[in-house]
Amino acid sequence: MDLEEVTRLFSERFREPPAIVIRAPGRVNLIGEHTDYNDGFVLPLAIDRAVWLALRPRTDRTTHVWSSEFTETVQFPLDRLEHGGPSWSEYLKGTAWALAAAGHRLSGWDGVIGSDVPIGAGLSSSAALELATARAFAATSQIPWDPSAMARLAQRAENEWVGVKCGIMDQLISAIGREGHAVLIDCRTLDTTAVPLPEHVDVVILDTATRRGLVDSAYNERRRQCDSAAAFFGVAALRDVTPSMFEARAGGLDETTARRARHVVTENARTLAAAEAMRRGDAPALGSLMNESHRSLHADFEVSSAALDTMVEIAQAQRGCHGARMTGAGFGGCAVALVDQGAVPVFVGRVAVEYERRTGLVPRLYATGATAGAARIGT
Ligand code: ADP
Ligand code: MG
Repeated sequence: MDLEEVTRLFSERFREPPAIVIRAPGRVNLIGEHTDYNDGFVLPLAIDRAVWLALRPRTDRTTHVWSSEFTETVQFPLDRLEHGGPSWSEYLKGTAWALAAAGHRLSGWDGVIGSDVPIGAGLSSSAALELATARAFAATSQIPWDPSAMARLAQRAENEWVGVKCGIMDQLISAIGREGHAVLIDCRTLDTTAVPLPEHVDVVILDTATRRGLVDSAYNERRRQCDSAAAFFGVAALRDVTPSMFEARAGGLDETTARRARHVVTENARTLAAAEAMRRGDAPALGSLMNESHRSLHADFEVSSAALDTMVEIAQAQRGCHGARMTGAGFGGCAVALVDQGAVPVFVGRVAVEYERRTGLVPRLYATGATAGAARIGT
């Protein structure tokens, strides 16, 4: 999907070119997993796959949107937003609701959505759709574009309207992504720092073609274990436990809780070290931190899966691969690898063949650079 394609989709339906085109990217997290709800650090980047939204303002207060993914139209009045209709429309209505609840007066538009962010693959097509919607309303309703504030409203839409309990990472990186950079996010203060990707490397997303099951109960159990570990250390969140504090006192925890806490404590340290390695342009150091992250998620936090372990092992063994790890909540979904640009075509071919040979599953692999956050494109 790109500017031309979404413009063409719009023109086909409305017999004129769009007045406004919006792009909002999906994302992948390089390192910093299961740290967000422990007030810790994450290091995501906006990928080169995005939700595109082409539109023209309307003079009334309704919005009409066609999705090329779902090949259907939804329309909703901005004065009476209600649940119901196709489930994908909830992301748009929820975003409108959150903007209105923040005191913005919205005007309507006719739009067409085109996207190449795979749905439900863990690359956050939902956050991309929310940010595209928010950016569209900002453009038609003269709302000043404050990316961080808009990310918080989009998160509120997903939490309270759609009913999905997600943290702020997905919306924030889709809003504030920067070309060629990952963004270190402090999940306690929401401070963000862009750090450059090392030169001549690509990020390769490795979709295992497995999806997480039973994730909610396992996720809630991990959260409880983290909370009880924080209580044991007498701190607000595991973010406040340093590696040396952990070593000194972890003996007082039961064995499982100690391993859960060790993952979070060491993962926060690795994420900060990864940002440092990036500032030095040190791809090998960044890659080994990713490898360590995977080991910790597998052995201490126990949220990997056979498919993820196989994918990561195959990726790590390839020439030109600096490191690889599972990414996202776990139990399925995607891994992420850091690969020398020149080695990417061979890497992708070999990983695909070897993964299919060992699992019988057909993976999807996407090489990506880091792109800019949600924005108006062109006119
Ligand atoms: P993801 O990991 O991709 O964010 P989610 O389940 O959180 O998975 O969100 C996917 C949902 O977002 C889809 O089921 C759909 O409702 C909505 N969505 C994503 N992309 C589009 C699109 N191009 N058009 C319409 N709705 C979309
Ligand atoms: Mg989502």
